[in-house]
Amino acid sequence: MQDFSQARNHVLEQIQQACDIAHRTDQVKLLAVSKTHSSQAIQAMYDLGQRAFGENYLQEACAKIDTLQGLDIDWHFIGHVQRNKTKQIATHFSWVHGIDRLIIAQRLSDQRPEGMAPLNICIQVNIDGQDSKDGCDPEDVIAMVEKIQDLPHIALRGLMVIPAPNNTQAFFDTQKLFRDVAEAYPTLTSWDTLSMGMSGDLQPAVEAGSTLVRVGTALFGGRDYSQNR
Ligand SMILES: *Cc1c(COP(=O)(O)O)cnc(C)c1O
Repeated sequence: MQDFSQARNHVLEQIQQACDIAHRTDQVKLLAVSKTHSSQAIQAMYDLGQRAFGENYLQEACAKIDTLQGLDIDWHFIGHVQRNKTKQIATHFSWVHGIDRLIIAQRLSDQRPEGMAPLNICIQVNIDGQDSKDGCDPEDVIAMVEKIQDLPHIALRGLMVIPAPNNTQAFFDTQKLFRDVAEAYPTLTSWDTLSMGMSGDLQPAVEAGSTLVRVGTALFGGRDYSQNR
């Protein structure tokens, strides 16, 4: 199996540099996006100390989760959540980033098995008004928070965005929205996560306040979609 240590160290250095530029001393979490990559690749990254992994495709993800079930991994679902997939997601993952409708959060809460920790979720926002993008309108976020915070088996952690390439302003807009929610709901103590930044834009995202970067290509190399689907 490939040695990923150089790639991972480089990404960790990039995060640190961006923190230094922004005078940040808090932690930024690195989510390793392993979609299309094998269980062996995940194991190799795990052996370097990586614990959080992100997947987009449910069937593929569940197979890997099953194979690697002895490991201490936090699995994040970062794809779009379809209504008929909520049960499998609620039973297999500890985080879900792509929530843009209340009904999906309600179903995940209802279907979270008893005895498992609350499911951590982020609300996906279409921060820069892209036509083709998932995510709720920024104006709808407060109303969603209002309802989601009361769901019994959900821990509402924050916001997730995928802005258009090179739209650095969108990261700052998201941070503002994130802070507005924190101010409006001071008792929502789980509100601590700003999921933004990928391989190509993790530094501007961290400089704008991201607390979790979702990185695939810069860690694992390019993706070959022909193998899996
Ligand atoms: C695939 C994916 C990523 C990782 O993208 P890279 O450019 O490979 O780092 C991050 N977030 C989401 C939602 C993704 O689907």
